[in-house]
Amino acid sequence: MANTSFKVIKNDLKKFKNILIVSHYSPDGDAMGSSLALYHYLLTLNKKVTVAVPNEYPDFLKWLPGNNKVLVYTKDAIKIDKLIAKSDCIFTLDFNTLSRLEDFGKALQNCGKPFFLIDHHQQPDSYAKYMLHNVDACSTCELIYDFIVGLGDKNKIDKKISNCLYTGLMTDTGSFRYPSVNTKTHAIIAELLKTGIVPSDIHSAVYDNYSYDRLKLLGYCLSEKLKIINANKVAYFSITNAELQKFNFKKGDTEGLVNYPFSISGVKVCAFFNEAPEGYIKISFRSKGNIDVNKFARKYFNGGGHKNAAGGKSNKSLNETVSEFEKFVVELC
Ligand code: 5GP
Ligand code: MN
Repeated sequence: MANTSFKVIKNDLKKFKNILIVSHYSPDGDAMGSSLALYHYLLTLNKKVTVAVPNEYPDFLKWLPGNNKVLVYTKDAIKIDKLIAKSDCIFTLDFNTLSRLEDFGKALQNCGKPFFLIDHHQQPDSYAKYMLHNVDACSTCELIYDFIVGLGDKNKIDKKISNCLYTGLMTDTGSFRYPSVNTKTHAIIAELLKTGIVPSDIHSAVYDNYSYDRLKLLGYCLSEKLKIINANKVAYFSITNAELQKFNFKKGDTEGLVNYPFSISGVKVCAFFNEAPEGYIKISFRSKGNIDVNKFARKYFNGGGHKNAAGGKSNKSLNETVSEFEKFVVELC
């Protein structure tokens, strides 16, 4: 589906007063950054706005301005169901299918409200009336920047909005090192810096805010759990829930871990498997260059994402899931 013109969006947005913003399960920096940036922007247009996410998100995102107003479906379902009923439109950010919201998605599926989809993942579903979709965007935060500028409101981008946008741009690009980074990324950052945000403070707030247990978990995974297969081209970790609990696992503690084996020369595909508290196996995939883990995750592991960063799930045991991966990954490299 083609993107909606900013002229149409600007006109229709005038009719919407009560607005709900939602993002995906296990919200990350881009999910929270884009949602809260849009929240602050819509407040400047005198809208009644709420951000709601399916489940809890890591503590290292809780400094974001507006965090104390965010609702979480696992805790606030009744309140959120009422807000869905009252809303004039619903913005869905940083995901491409309502199934990425788990139970919250079921509540939204047949609500009959007009949806906006603002996202950079491949192959979006067609549930939205209004689209701002671009797989070349490094993050949904880049698209929120485009959205605000496209509506002629660049001057409304203040320090709060910039802090939120910088966070998503930074986390979704691995601190500005992935191939998705280009002149536009840095041009946006330059604009955001003019509002007075301090990049080093944002990096510290996000990356220097973990526990001692988390660092020990990282050490344990690297020294005890890393497997390298396929002539050193594929590396993966798999970890049980019991192992995670030994390190007092908290949401966000394994974020980024999947990427570590890329520092080994020749590694092209990385994966991370863990027994999720929800009862299934959660998987993260990463790849280099033309190797497409989005297709791979869709084909074998009920998932999706981007070409070089995707996720999936399995209802089999951890060992069976890993065995299947070892069998199928031969296709990739
Ligand atoms: P992560 O490995 O960091 O959880 O996710 C990597 C990328 O894949 C993110 O952009 C995320 O939104 C997407 N992703 C993660 N898990 C799933 C999934 O189960 N289904 C789909 N469609 N996308 C996923
Ligand atoms: Mn994203």
